[in-house]
Amino acid sequence: MNVNARPILVVGGGIAGMTAAVEAAEVGYRVILVEKEACLGGRVMRMHRYFPKMCPPTCGFEVNARRIRQNPRITVHTLATVDGLSGIAGKFTAAITKRPRYVTGEHSLDESMTERLTSERVNTFNYGMDNTKALYLPHDMAYPPVYVLDREALSPADAEALPGIVPDGAVDLDMAEERIEVEVGAVIVATGWEPYEATNLEHLGFGRCPNVITNVVMERLASRGGPTGGDITRPSDGKKAENVAFVQCAGSRDEDHLPYCSAVCCMASLKQARYVREKNEDARASVYYIDIRTVGRHEKFYYELLEDERVSFVKGKVARVDEDPGSGDLVLDVEDTESRQKLRPTADLVVLATGMVPSTAHVGMPFELEVDEYGFIDGATSVDGIYAAGCVKHPCDVARATKESTAAALQAIQCLNRG
Ligand code: SF4
Repeated sequence: MNVNARPILVVGGGIAGMTAAVEAAEVGYRVILVEKEACLGGRVMRMHRYFPKMCPPTCGFEVNARRIRQNPRITVHTLATVDGLSGIAGKFTAAITKRPRYVTGEHSLDESMTERLTSERVNTFNYGMDNTKALYLPHDMAYPPVYVLDREALSPADAEALPGIVPDGAVDLDMAEERIEVEVGAVIVATGWEPYEATNLEHLGFGRCPNVITNVVMERLASRGGPTGGDITRPSDGKKAENVAFVQCAGSRDEDHLPYCSAVCCMASLKQARYVREKNEDARASVYYIDIRTVGRHEKFYYELLEDERVSFVKGKVARVDEDPGSGDLVLDVEDTESRQKLRPTADLVVLATGMVPSTAHVGMPFELEVDEYGFIDGATSVDGIYAAGCVKHPCDVARATKESTAAALQAIQCLNRG
């Protein structure tokens, strides 16, 4: 081990970045973990459950958060981005910008205080389905467990009232952006993914029919911490969804949208069909697919669902979704490619299985990165000392993302030991 090695910079604090950070730190290396949001956990924390074991993400997150909290070799910067990187493997200098949280973290805050504010912000954790107060904790298990103030959402009246509501020194409305420079030896890019922009899927009813949602929204609907407390209901009228249609490859494997397969959205829909059935034994789920791609041991999960007579599978691509204006129900146009029949099934909720887009497709990194035509860092980066992990490399599930994060941590360690 190179005891003089510089720290490893991990960019992105989702499951991949957290895993890389703890793996490197627990064998003795220092790590600087940079996350753009106010807390760690990334998109996985917004899921209701993981497949195939159907355990909630909070279990694994709690373990990782404890490993980070207890390890003095890990420094976490939230609300932070890496804006510049110069140097060579073993000797990089990174510029980090930290946005103000406006909360000092020196006093504990609670809901009885925030309830006294009237200003609200859109709750991005719940994909905009509800609002929080302008002073908020991102979610119940947020790490760091520190409130954030959305300064732009705070009304002048609330800004004036705030000092009388929170303890002295808890909030600093004059907190400014901070720029720091750190010397690091290697970099792991774990900036994750975004759901494909569903507003491009107008033909499938998104944006036109309120009861057409995406698979990531379904995770929040099913979650107890979500906007409905875990009830799978229709956005238009709050009615319990009893007949849910899953539209596979929504914008994927399609030259007009994402030409590639996102690898996880078949399993995501199968998992969500289970949510529907577990929450309401009378509910039905229908899955419209081109192929069901459940690789390896996931096949068992699929076969189990095939046994459920209230879950049906139709091989055929959905061409269009429209709304019945009277009932708010959805009507799907689909050709069953096995029976060669044109079908017009109805559903009270449609879930689009949208695919994964790497974060690097839209947001550049402050250094040259070789990406494929879709923005994934496919294979090695073009710079020695910079490695990638998780869904920024290619679409993958949590299990694969964490394994590859361990591999990236090892590559970074090897780089430090060469230096
Ligand atoms: Fe389509 Fe399934 Fe591939 Fe997703 S995983 S793109 S739904 S085949």
